Amino acid sequence: MRLTLSTVESVFLAEHQTCPQRNLLYAFAAQTPILAPTKPTSSTKPTKPQEPTARERGAAATGGGRTGRSRRNHQPDAGGMARSGRRSGASPCDLDREFAPQIAQLLAAPPPQSAQEYYEELIQSKKHDGIRVNYKGNHGKGVCANKDFAEGDLILKDQILVGAQHSLNKIDCVVCSYCFRFIGSVEFQIGHRLYFQSIASSIGCSSERHCHGSDVGSSTCSSGVTKEKSSTLPEEVIESLITGDVSLPFSDHFALPEIVACQGCEEERYCSQSCADSDWESYHSLLCAGPNTEPPRRSALHKFVEHANETNDIFLVAAKAITFTMLRYKKLKRQNDFQNKSAESNFSLLMEAWKPLSMGFKKRWWDYVALPEDVDASDEDSFRQEIRDLAFTSLKLLKDAIFDAECAPLFSLEVYGHIIGMFELNNLDLVVASPVEDYFIHIDDLPDDKKEEAEKATAPLLDALDDDYAVPCDGTAFFPLQSCMNHSCCPNAKAFKRDEDNDGHAVIIALGPISKGEEITISYIDEDLPYEERQAELADYGFTCTCSKCQEEKPN
Ligand SMILES: [Zn+2]
Ligand SMILES: [Zn+2]
Ligand SMILES: [Zn+2]
Repeated sequence: MRLTLSTVESVFLAEHQTCPQRNLLYAFAAQTPILAPTKPTSSTKPTKPQEPTARERGAAATGGGRTGRSRRNHQPDAGGMARSGRRSGASPCDLDREFAPQIAQLLAAPPPQSAQEYYEELIQSKKHDGIRVNYKGNHGKGVCANKDFAEGDLILKDQILVGAQHSLNKIDCVVCSYCFRFIGSVEFQIGHRLYFQSIASSIGCSSERHCHGSDVGSSTCSSGVTKEKSSTLPEEVIESLITGDVSLPFSDHFALPEIVACQGCEEERYCSQSCADSDWESYHSLLCAGPNTEPPRRSALHKFVEHANETNDIFLVAAKAITFTMLRYKKLKRQNDFQNKSAESNFSLLMEAWKPLSMGFKKRWWDYVALPEDVDASDEDSFRQEIRDLAFTSLKLLKDAIFDAECAPLFSLEVYGHIIGMFELNNLDLVVASPVEDYFIHIDDLPDDKKEEAEKATAPLLDALDDDYAVPCDGTAFFPLQSCMNHSCCPNAKAFKRDEDNDGHAVIIALGPISKGEEITISYIDEDLPYEERQAELADYGFTCTCSKCQEEKPN
């Protein structure tokens, strides 16, 4: 079968071949070390009172949440990790000591003036003239309408600053690594998914594919446990879907961009050469582990990625944040011809390169993350220590791969912990609806005669895919403008992907008329929950809501 495997897919296959008894897809996601900390994916979605339809799931990106509430698998540390004394005893990495003043500068809230200018420039360059960001230092940030909006109007399409598809989701959805558009063809997407599914069922395991490891058991899992597949298609059928030897009826209505692979590693796939180039310039040139990368660095990169896939893929997003800053720094240095300048001026360039990420609200990941429900309060110290150790290991692996002395403060544990914390505090789920879902809906909506004919080809596929036909692309991302929007339980806007929004942008739509000057708010949670439950959920975001609805419903 002519299918180039990505690392995730290869690991997936290796897992299957070596551990036939395990619950495969799940085992891959959650082969937990001592614990698997928060996976930012599904838990950040507001809990809908009823299971949303597949279309809603795929189409609606949700409010800027963080994952304090996500459930984590925490097995008490049978390995005998010291329960006390260890927390203060752990030595921070040397860079934290050596660059303490620079690290403090990187993590300080940006001066209001400079932040205000940053947002004005960003809004101007992206032509988002419908909004204005008001920045008043620390937590005081908000977005206001700069013109009148009517119900249903598009307020903002915010481009991802740094983001990534969840590792396990790569089995289900093949998307552009830069813009997150689905690529290949509907046939390829179906074949790719069935290929991995057939491996799982061939060794008699059911798959739990959408619950990303630590989110198992959470009410916000996108579709929970799937049944063991009833039908598996012959290998030739799956192969012809992947290779494009067969085309399904009406699939030309759902044409997808052709796949452009990274010329270095063939691991990352794109919708176009321009996305491949942009990814290379912004993040990937430092993370590409192809044959052209020197072997020690390549093997270090593989180890880093492997660790992240086995523990928490938020480390992959954090690595992209670091390479984004390093590459911006190098570019600024070239532009400024700064080759022979002093260390101080190099650091001021690093500060400038870091600026877009400095705007995100940050807290140290292992300090603020809420204690999972299944962790006893007496285990809190060791829980936090273990998360910190996990980040430390990940950072060490990343440092082995891409360390650059001029950007040394970026490799401190303090900065790494805050970058991860930033994604947890500000992230909006990256969700892109699947064209495969649209395709099957289209077939279902055909007039009877056409439908009967088409279903001869599509029904066996739909049967084999079962509920999985509608799995959207999902991941974690930081959206620079959306993350400035405040919460309200009676919001005037919401994140919602329309049919035409087929990439990773965050799309914010007006829920009713909004006048110029009015604050634009979105809901971080399910705003239909009763007052107490809303406040409990919002406590994880670190605030008590005093919106008009809360004031009205507050018990005296
Ligand atoms: Zn793309
Ligand atoms: Zn590459
Ligand atoms: Zn409220």
